[in-house]
Amino acid sequence: YMMTQLIGANNNHVVPSTPQSWAEYSHPGSRWTARKGLYWGAAEGGPIETGEIPPGNANTVGFRTMKSTFDLGPEAEEYTVKMGGCHSCPIRCMSQLNVPQAKKFGVPQTGGNTCVANFVHTTIFPNGPKDIEKKGDANVVGNLVGLNIFDDMGLWCNYGQLHRDFTYCYTHGVFKRVLSEEEYNDIPWDKLEEGDPAFIKDFYYRLAHRKGEFSHLADGSYLIAQRWNLGEEYWGNKKNKLWSPMGFPIHHANEASAQVGSIVNCMFNRDAMTHTHINYIGSGLPLKLQKEIAGELFGSGDAFDETKNYTPINKAKIAYTKWTILRSCLHDAVTLCNWVWPMTVSPHKSRNYRGDLDMEAKFFTAITGEPTTSQDLDLASERIFTLHRAYTVKLMNTMDMRNEHDQICSWVFDKDPDIPVFTEGTDKMDRDDMQLSLTLFYEEMGWDPQLGCPTKATLVRLGLQDVADDLASRGLLPN
Ligand code: SF4
Repeated sequence: YMMTQLIGANNNHVVPSTPQSWAEYSHPGSRWTARKGLYWGAAEGGPIETGEIPPGNANTVGFRTMKSTFDLGPEAEEYTVKMGGCHSCPIRCMSQLNVPQAKKFGVPQTGGNTCVANFVHTTIFPNGPKDIEKKGDANVVGNLVGLNIFDDMGLWCNYGQLHRDFTYCYTHGVFKRVLSEEEYNDIPWDKLEEGDPAFIKDFYYRLAHRKGEFSHLADGSYLIAQRWNLGEEYWGNKKNKLWSPMGFPIHHANEASAQVGSIVNCMFNRDAMTHTHINYIGSGLPLKLQKEIAGELFGSGDAFDETKNYTPINKAKIAYTKWTILRSCLHDAVTLCNWVWPMTVSPHKSRNYRGDLDMEAKFFTAITGEPTTSQDLDLASERIFTLHRAYTVKLMNTMDMRNEHDQICSWVFDKDPDIPVFTEGTDKMDRDDMQLSLTLFYEEMGWDPQLGCPTKATLVRLGLQDVADDLASRGLLPN
């Protein structure tokens, strides 16, 4: 039922990216990228066409998401062996590439990954990456080299923030200011300007081996800002995309259902790895249908706005936010991929594109033998998320989550200075509206409406009396 009636492509996108014979709709942003004439060009035994993959056939789902070309551009087609992925996942969103040119740089010619890990490495080049053997191979080669070294050296990019921090420091003269002359001159900046993958190798080696002052870049945004005295210009820089003054980057925030994504990004202690909302936003279905579905799920179609044309906060958006976070917590807990789930929508016109949000409960019941409803799982997820919040209160040793934790960097409010907020063309946030959004969300969660920390009544309702007692003993439970 799930495989033939509900599942889409990566991110549960349910329409193809190009017009196709079977499809009523298409959307160029969709990750359902399979189409006639698009091949796994380096497949063993000869190229394999992805082709049109209409819904209804459980055995062809893995062809739908051609992630190599989606992440790296059309040049990646000829190097694509196949799509791989996590154990038992039918979507297969991980590119498996074979790029012989990569060997020149002392790394294996095979490798692959998905999303930022696939394409972040060459973003540091101010003039773009350079071609290695053929016209257009630059991006594919540079990123495979970066990917393999990154894995070998155990590095993490903080959802691209490491590379944006590098670019910020390079373009704002920070390295010149904080490195000794000897260290500065030891770095092969000419290779950076040329877009040579050899620079990536040198860059990652310095970080992994903690070589020099430069290697503090790996300490993360919060610490380099202190160490290198980066100041408000750094935190408020729109291109640098830091969401929080605590040092974590944007991850489907104001550009993803405005207040919904913004609240989500405030709630976690790192980049918010939550895709429930972005999957739904990006499904590819037309706005009218999306609004209808929002009306069914959240009580009003006004929960869902067009991107860059959004309205002030309302109750339905708060319900949408809560659902987004709770499903993400649920998926982490039961080891489902929040890049596929929940099954909010379906690719079938015969279902009027409606998905089935009871699927997690149906699977849970089937696997454990314990009759379990969606309401049961929602409650369990609420307990998980509230425990996360309580733990944040405890570790930060403050109840004032609103002012101490749920902060947003200034660029989110100050971007697009010529376009008024709540008008077409901008996704910048409004300071008062955002504070009201937080208040409404805290109330929805049963947290203190001013402070944003869990109350005794809510902790007890969720079976967390011991947590309430612990917080009370530390003076961290509101009256
Ligand atoms: S489980 Fe998620 S990340 Fe893994 S292959 Fe499937 S869609 Fe990709």
